[in-house]
Amino acid sequence: MGIDLHAHTTASDGSFTPRQLVTEAKKRGLAAIGITDHDTLGGHAEAIEAGLELGVEIVPGIELSVKNEAGEKFHLLGYYVAADSALARELSQLQRERDARNAVIVEKLAALGAPISMARVLEIARGGVVGRPHLAQALVEAGHIASVQEAFDRYLADGAAATASKEVMTPARAVALIHAAGGVAIWAHPTRPPSQRAGAVNFAVLESQLRNWIEIGLDGLEIYYSQYSPAEALWTAQMAQKYGLLGSGGSDFHGRSKPDIQVGVVHTGNAVPDEVLAALKGKRGA
Ligand code: AMP
Ligand code: ZN
Ligand code: FE
Ligand code: FE
Repeated sequence: MGIDLHAHTTASDGSFTPRQLVTEAKKRGLAAIGITDHDTLGGHAEAIEAGLELGVEIVPGIELSVKNEAGEKFHLLGYYVAADSALARELSQLQRERDARNAVIVEKLAALGAPISMARVLEIARGGVVGRPHLAQALVEAGHIASVQEAFDRYLADGAAATASKEVMTPARAVALIHAAGGVAIWAHPTRPPSQRAGAVNFAVLESQLRNWIEIGLDGLEIYYSQYSPAEALWTAQMAQKYGLLGSGGSDFHGRSKPDIQVGVVHTGNAVPDEVLAALKGKRGA
């Protein structure tokens, strides 16, 4: 049947509600769908309810943003993390820091002659975790800029005119928190680090980063991904094999903001094979 272990909902920056996402997974004939919103477990309850009704297995997950001592940023997926955990408590703290950062960005935008209203940003985010993509959308709506990408390039990208940094976890702390919550830690799209354009990666550098991840207890990496080129798919699969890691993956569906990405479709043109989920479950609470 096939599965998809990486998708976003309105709990973060996706445009589908958790129920709509599960409905879409059902329509596409998937056996299971992973809910991996950025820095929140908020989409799980609704997805699980819909999954029970529709007969789609829900794999509760999260996508954490982390940064190492060298300032390099990564996305880390955690699956089957307990809601009652130190990780969940840390997320509440991150949420407060994120809110403060967003307020600073909005102030900077006003000072730069591109005012947006925080009330409108919150509406755009529909109750989910508010991120730069929502601020970008508000900038477009307000007519300050023509496209979301332009909003990033001019104002919101790391180092651009209106950015403000927020505290993020280190990879070691994030992996430890995922494990302490009984979860499985997967390096998301290793060849596509956040806020770096595709094609700029060096496989030798990535492999040395992978060794660091393994040292801190990483369980696996994404070997299936909607955006992978054949070279990226080959490299990630080879690394999983070489280091005895789990090979996970999914579409990274977001809905409207990434219209080329479909639920249940990775670089192969198909869904992720079912056996990936069985292997993932084998690592739970390990
Ligand atoms: P935030 O978590 O609020 O810092 O926002 C991070 C999100 O913004 C990422 O997941 C990307 O979707 C998006 N993003 C970050 N940098 C860029 C960029 N340079 N161009 C386009 N999108 C970006
Ligand atoms: Zn996202
Ligand atoms: Fe990501
Ligand atoms: Fe993602």
